[in-house]
Amino acid sequence: MPVSSREWHLTARPTGEPKPSDFALVTSTVADPGPGQVLVRNDWLSVDPYMRNRMDEGESYIPAFELHRVMDGAAVGTVVASGADGVRVGATVVHFHGWREYAVLAAGAVRVVDTELAPAQAYLGVLGATGLTAYAGLTEIAPVRPGDVVFVSGAAGAVGSVAGQLARKLGASRVIGSAGGPEKSRRLVEHFGFDVGIDYREGDLAGQLARAAPQGVDVYFDNVGGDHLQAALGAMNRYGRVALCGAISSYNDAEAPPGPSNLRLAIGRRLTLRGMITTDHTDLIPEYVHRAATWLRDGSLRADETVVDGVENSVEAFLAMMRGANTGKMLVRLVHA
Ligand code: NAP
Repeated sequence: MPVSSREWHLTARPTGEPKPSDFALVTSTVADPGPGQVLVRNDWLSVDPYMRNRMDEGESYIPAFELHRVMDGAAVGTVVASGADGVRVGATVVHFHGWREYAVLAAGAVRVVDTELAPAQAYLGVLGATGLTAYAGLTEIAPVRPGDVVFVSGAAGAVGSVAGQLARKLGASRVIGSAGGPEKSRRLVEHFGFDVGIDYREGDLAGQLARAAPQGVDVYFDNVGGDHLQAALGAMNRYGRVALCGAISSYNDAEAPPGPSNLRLAIGRRLTLRGMITTDHTDLIPEYVHRAATWLRDGSLRADETVVDGVENSVEAFLAMMRGANTGKMLVRLVHA
């Protein structure tokens, strides 16, 4: 049994872009699991944009990280000791006690997953919260109807790359994505099957979007906010729908950014702009996982992963993801001797 575990603490609330010195890797003692508990060895950790918001104080839908305490987030691991009926040693489980090597958890805090269906880490990405976000966004929040033109920002990332592919499966006639840089925007078309990949770093986003969507946009899946939301509003058709999923362009801003100056277009065009939080949509998990696993098996859904090795590199992985170093899901793989 392991006697110690390394875990990440937030030690200072970042201003602007977080610095490695805002975090500390701390060694803690691992307890034996008691009755009804399991000891989990984490194999994969998820690093996600919403974690940046948890580094700040203030109102949110999820509590801020506490200073000098272990951070948390999604992880997948292997049960290495069990005092719980129904969760056997060797089971692969997902849970919310990431940012660390080992965790002692109540059996009710873990969900056993089927690694015959897909590799364990898929439950942090395409079969996990990120895939579900894309699915809920395009089926319930801003439903795609056959023939729609769909625009997805952050399209080469974990949520966006799945959203673009799901939009097509849901009947979109044209799928447009935006991402940072020529390589990513090319990959949108060549690998993920978008009709157009916009490189937002080239500038003139509104002009690029107008050229990509001469008939206008019916559904916008917003991962970025800011200039992307402004450009999308300008391109929306009457009765268009916008899923407000994320606003990563402002997560490091110390001051609240101004809202889109063209918001009043929403009135005349009868737009629906709707925020979403994935945890409201867990009822969709069985339906989504069944459909997505089928598509993964038949090769019609592609799920990229960008992998960083070692718990000691988790903060670097998080910071790199925020800067756009990833395609698809950014993951930390813990290698166990
Ligand atoms: P991700 O897209 O895999 O990674 C983040 C990406 O953001 C980077 O790869 C980078 O890609 C892009 N980015 C960073 N700064 C940017 C900027 N200033 N302008 C445009 N793009 C920028 O992350 P994810 O996990 O899939 O999350 C995507 C979005 O969905 C985030 O906003 C996240 O908060 C949101 N989300 C919301 C929910 C919910 O329940 N509402 C759930 C999951 C995720 P480029 O190289 O293209 O810049």
